[in-house]
Amino acid sequence: MQPSFKMIDEKTGRYLPFIYPEELAFWEAARERKLKLQRCSSCRKAWYPIGPACPHCFSTKFEWQLMSGRGKLHNYVIYHKAWTPWFEKRVPYAVVQVQLEEGPRLTTNLLDCPVEKIRIGMPVEAAFEDITGEITLVQFRPAAR
Ligand SMILES: [Zn+2]
Repeated sequence: MQPSFKMIDEKTGRYLPFIYPEELAFWEAARERKLKLQRCSSCRKAWYPIGPACPHCFSTKFEWQLMSGRGKLHNYVIYHKAWTPWFEKRVPYAVVQVQLEEGPRLTTNLLDCPVEKIRIGMPVEAAFEDITGEITLVQFRPAAR
């Protein structure tokens, strides 16, 4: 059976993630403005996306660990189409991939940075955007110097 949820939240006009039970630690940390990811208890590598086993060694033993929040912009695309009404005032906007110092790559948004100033390799840091009382998104912004 499919989980039931609204694709677009009526209050915010935004797409909201569906939170699966195995992701609760990630979302709880985000509400506290912390970035926590799974770190393998066997090979010690961190990983993302969230999953039941380490993608490096397939161990199912892990702990949730606080990440530095620091990383570099690995890649990006610029969207010129508003896929929901919420995006209409925001085009063009970027979807970026950030490579954390700890290794994992997150697909996210870059706040406080016009698209023409985005550069591959630029240092970025985690930022947290409260969307609803339950959901805080992990975003990034150019790192303070
Ligand atoms: Zn591992």
